[in-house]
Amino acid sequence: MSTVSDYFGSLVFDDRVMRAKLPAKVYASLRKTIDEGSEIDISVANAVAEAMKNWAVENGATHFTHWFQPLTGITAEKHDSFITPSPDGSVIMEFSGKELIKGEPDASSFPSGGLRATFEARGYTAWDPTSYAFIKGKTLCIPTAFCSYGGHALDKKTPLLRSMEVLSKEALRILRLFGNGSAKRVVSSVGPEQEYFLITREMYEKRPDLRFTGRTLFGAKPPKGQELDDHYFGVIKPGVQAFMEDLNDELWKLGILAKTEHNEVAPAQHELAPIYSTTNIATDHNQLTMEIMQKVAARHGLVCLLHEKPFAGVNGSGKHNNWSIATDKGQNLLSPGETPYENAQFLLFLCAVIKAVDDYQDLLRLSVATAGNDHRLGANEAPPAVISMFLGDELNAVLEAIENDKPYAGTKKTQMKLGVDVLPKFNRDTTDRNRTSPFAFTGNKFEFRMLGSSNSIACANIMLNAAVAESLRIYADRLEKAEDFETALHEMIKKTIKDHRRIIFNGNGYDDSWIKEATENRGLLNYRTTADCMPHLLDEKNVKMLTSLGIFTEDELRSRRDIMLENYCKTVVIEANTMVDMARTEIAPAVEAYTSDIAEAASAKKVLSPTLKCRYETELTEKLSALIDEITEKTDALESALVKVHEAEDIIEESAMIRDLLLPAMNELRLPCDKAEVLTAKKYWPFPTYADLLFGVK
Ligand code: ADP
Ligand code: MG
Repeated sequence: MSTVSDYFGSLVFDDRVMRAKLPAKVYASLRKTIDEGSEIDISVANAVAEAMKNWAVENGATHFTHWFQPLTGITAEKHDSFITPSPDGSVIMEFSGKELIKGEPDASSFPSGGLRATFEARGYTAWDPTSYAFIKGKTLCIPTAFCSYGGHALDKKTPLLRSMEVLSKEALRILRLFGNGSAKRVVSSVGPEQEYFLITREMYEKRPDLRFTGRTLFGAKPPKGQELDDHYFGVIKPGVQAFMEDLNDELWKLGILAKTEHNEVAPAQHELAPIYSTTNIATDHNQLTMEIMQKVAARHGLVCLLHEKPFAGVNGSGKHNNWSIATDKGQNLLSPGETPYENAQFLLFLCAVIKAVDDYQDLLRLSVATAGNDHRLGANEAPPAVISMFLGDELNAVLEAIENDKPYAGTKKTQMKLGVDVLPKFNRDTTDRNRTSPFAFTGNKFEFRMLGSSNSIACANIMLNAAVAESLRIYADRLEKAEDFETALHEMIKKTIKDHRRIIFNGNGYDDSWIKEATENRGLLNYRTTADCMPHLLDEKNVKMLTSLGIFTEDELRSRRDIMLENYCKTVVIEANTMVDMARTEIAPAVEAYTSDIAEAASAKKVLSPTLKCRYETELTEKLSALIDEITEKTDALESALVKVHEAEDIIEESAMIRDLLLPAMNELRLPCDKAEVLTAKKYWPFPTYADLLFGVK
């Protein structure tokens, strides 16, 4: 049997394969493109394409595709085979440099938010050589960016690459000021922890809500949920274990560093965390991971639910985005250094993040906004919709000392030492963890915890990189002009702490009193829904920052706002339609059938024995009949709300109506249905219950 290290990356055209298969000159040239972003020559592209094709064909591939990430949030691919006819009637397998570099998928069916006139259906995909090509099934997949012919980004990768570029540029300016002349690039890295649910396919198939919307729209609370805390880190069931093993194998073959797996808080909920990697690769890998999870689940008779809130009253699923920045020489810029001078540099980068998170709370919030994630943020299981930062006691004390010009006393484990400059030496704080903070410093990285489980991590990282690059740009502008670097540095750190102290909160983020404090005393933003936050993408300060850094054009921003809002509206409308359908055609008839059977039973009994009271039947019939009436009334109300939403003039108005009319009407309909579920005999109920779904996997 082969070991993991034998087959790890076996389906990836990675550095090992490139080195082995490419002529030395071609390899060196491609390496330069990957490492330094230099342009690629067509002769190099031809040689790479030839080697890639030969390798792919040897590994069973027949087709190739430009693999990209349109704004739908999932990935897209159109397969072309390598075959080219020969005069003698046979075929040869061909793949040119041109085909590698650029593709022209028919783009008309991907959302563009008005960026591409419908008559101009073409868009093009462009090879991203920094993310390795790989084989999926029988297809060679080439990671690409996707643009309109006008050059507008129609995908998530393009702005992500742009954001990485500006972050690198601005961070290097700072590093030069600290005397670092050797770093060539600064790279942002991410390790996304992916949560998901596994249920049996058999149960899934019986629930239209799960099939059409990815979440249950009805369902009474099961007798046992997560209250015993017996699932988190608990023994993994054999069916789940088999799934995980198979999944790991598939991911490892694709060079994905799947590392940690465990049960999560809710029954049937699990987590997979990879080892972190460069942001755009982590993004590609996370998209692939989500896709492969669903494929592997299907092979095991299971369904992997990536929705943020598949079950009401049970913890939802998120995706913690562990983020850090490091030089190409491997120095983590968010790691407190050994010397006071390194500490000063660390504190400056730390301040850049603090300033970024405070200045652009709105962008971070909207980068994770979807209809699904709205159910999670603010429930007592995920960070609230209010953004704040957790730094830990030690760092907090350091910042306080700087802000107040006081010597830093610190805690026991702290070494107090005022060094060559005014900044203290301190050790990194690794023990202090706060699970309720949306944005926590965890020793040498930040953990952004608001992402939903199904979100592409691209959006959050674009905004994070952009906002931090903007802080660094402002710092570098000032420091480059300073007469006395150390004094200017100290003043700037001090000013950042003073100006942005409000964003730092080390207490319990789930507490209602915090939301009050955050919004009333600190003036922090609390955008509870997608409809609330998404329009702010076009706020003047945001447009100014994102366009001046060259990450988005204003047109691209407008299109993205529209697409995200459309997505929100469509998602909820589909849910509402599904509810109407389920309530009318399945739930009401089921309750009615049970009620009339009971009523009939009572009549039959009374014929036999006229003095019988039949209390059980009478009371139940009354209760259920009232519920059927209520279900009918609320279904009608939901339908009227759907009609009203349809009349909205524009997408902003529609999204507000979804929030104010449709979602409340959906909640109203759910209540009597869930009440009826617990009163109706199980054999009459048309759907598997929460207990069936959550405890079904063996
Ligand atoms: P947790 O306690 O939240 O599970 P872990 O230490 O297990 O945290 O790490 C979670 C994720 O953070 C992993 O994907 C890991 O690779 C990633 N990670 C660790 N160090 C860094 C770093 N410097 N930059 C980005 N991600 C990192
Ligand atoms: Mg975590």
